[in-house]
Amino acid sequence: MASTQPLLKLWSGHNRLKAHMYNTYKIGHTDLYSCREAAETAEHILQDCQNYRTLRQAIFSSPTELQAKLWGTLEEQSSYREQEEEEKEKSNVKVKIVTSICFTS
Ligand SMILES: [Zn+2]
Repeated sequence: MASTQPLLKLWSGHNRLKAHMYNTYKIGHTDLYSCREAAETAEHILQDCQNYRTLRQAIFSSPTELQAKLWGTLEEQSSYREQEEEEKEKSNVKVKIVTSICFTS
């Protein structure tokens, strides 16, 4: 399963985008994105930036909220949770098998 860490960084705002680096750490000369129209934030890039309009339309055929882009839809989120539960169950079974092999003489 893909790591959620990059998405978590975008979601929390703790990332290396200019808006965070400039406004929090005073790194760089500006928080503007290369389009010069707005600060470089996950929301601007994923929702508004004209540089990515065509790409956004290709990926998201209908208007999609930022949260869904970062975290997936509610259906996708519950599907991930089900997969995690299945993985936990599988590893529990493995532990039981290993335990029974190691501690049964
Ligand atoms: Zn832009």
